[in-house]
Amino acid sequence: MKHLTSADLNALAAQLQAMKHSVLDEIRDTAADVEIDLQPQDHEVQSHADEAEAERLGDVRFAEIEIDRARLRDIEQAEQRMSDGRYGICADCGEAIARERLLAQPIAIRCAACQATAELRLHR
Ligand SMILES: [Zn+2]
Repeated sequence: MKHLTSADLNALAAQLQAMKHSVLDEIRDTAADVEIDLQPQDHEVQSHADEAEAERLGDVRFAEIEIDRARLRDIEQAEQRMSDGRYGICADCGEAIARERLLAQPIAIRCAACQATAELRLHR
């Protein structure tokens, strides 16, 4: 990763850590919301419509947690690659990932071309 200076790497590591903190916060907040939604409200009899609404909200929040967890995995993968000294190298073709791309998206593990190919594969 000669295209990245140690200052770049430090900045990227700090960015990854900040991203990780905010994702962990979000997961905690969303999980707390789910807990509140699932509390039985004994002061009023819930209609089926209310129950369905509570369930739908719960589903949405669980989906949000899943998205946050996936992001957390990406961040941890990037951190792992950094400690292995493979950070900034495309996971697919082994070429250097453009510095601008990494600065814009520190969790990128592929170069732009390979990422586009990988996304095409996913959506097919
Ligand atoms: Zn590549």
